[in-house]
Amino acid sequence: MAQILAVLEQRQGTLRKVSLEVLAAARTLADQLGGGATVDGLVFGTGAVEGTAALGKAGADRVLLAAHPDFGLYNPDGFAATTASIGGSYAVIVFPATASGRDLAPRVAAKLGVACATDVTEVGVEGGKVSAVRPVYAGKALQRVVLGGAPAVLSIRPNTFAVAQAADRADAATAALDVPSFTQRVTVKEVKAPAQSTLDVAEASIIVSGGRGLKEPGNFKLIEELAAAFGTAAVGASRAVVDAGWREHAAQVGQTGKTVAPSLYVAVGISGAIQHLAGMRTSKVIVAINKDKDAPIFKVADYGIVGDLFEIVPRLTEEIKKIRAEH
Ligand code: FAD
Repeated sequence: MAQILAVLEQRQGTLRKVSLEVLAAARTLADQLGGGATVDGLVFGTGAVEGTAALGKAGADRVLLAAHPDFGLYNPDGFAATTASIGGSYAVIVFPATASGRDLAPRVAAKLGVACATDVTEVGVEGGKVSAVRPVYAGKALQRVVLGGAPAVLSIRPNTFAVAQAADRADAATAALDVPSFTQRVTVKEVKAPAQSTLDVAEASIIVSGGRGLKEPGNFKLIEELAAAFGTAAVGASRAVVDAGWREHAAQVGQTGKTVAPSLYVAVGISGAIQHLAGMRTSKVIVAINKDKDAPIFKVADYGIVGDLFEIVPRLTEEIKKIRAEH
């Protein structure tokens, strides 16, 4: 019977949404592999982590908790050694392609001497082997790969797998996992989180992003107001405005920023350079507002408004407020 290991992520004792997406991808593979394949979720921490039993509804059959005093923050050597110590008995290991998952998945694959498909947006089974689709060349092409050997190691792009909530699935039992001894060569000393009130672009289902078309940092107020009108939208930014110091790097979307795939991405005053598109072109619906009708952003936009953002954005904000007030 095939077993699948879903490597989950927590922050300060609470599981991140991406963990549920990893479970959804793992569950899809378990169902396609058939034969009663099961899914184990692996969580690292210094002690108990909130909400592990409820992971049953999201697709886990069992949760393994690897507790260690040094596992408060991401621990590359410790996490890799622990995952590799059990990884050989699984058919597939699924990681999130987050900042730490992108670092961890190849470490584990290297330790196990197996292939690794990173930043995957679709998973499947072909002739009994795990297959995956992954955007390449900054999202310009999609590559389909089949992973030979076991375990197949994958990391999945955040916000591309719908979270499963099967009410009829039982709670997941939690078991403690022994952490093997490891040599710590890298220590993560601190993780600088953005201000509490800021919604992370990597987790938001609506993102309103601003670019150099806003002319000056103070005008980002227009973007913040539009995001606030939607209720729970995050504010994103192009690299041009991050480099100029208008916004924090945590908000940057693109090749050297975050990869996002929200339900709605609104690009305001952003030209749509290939490096920006690399981070957002898989968004479900893209709206672009730009005064240049030939701006490349319109090539990927579902809806485009050609015009001056300083006229359009305030009107759009008012309309969204009205619609939300009516519902
Ligand atoms: P611009 O390209 O200057 O575009 C501004 C847009 O605003 C224009 O299209 C203009 O028509 C429009 N505009 C101006 N005034 C108005 C108005 N009044 N109303 C409406 N529209 C208006 N970029 C990223 O975003 N993310 C990355 O991660 C990233 N990584 C990179 C990595 C590398 C290695 C390199 C070389 C570049 C990277 N870049 C990245 C930079 C990228 O190439 C672009 O320079 C950047 O995305 C441009 O930002 P922008 O669209 O805000 O600015």
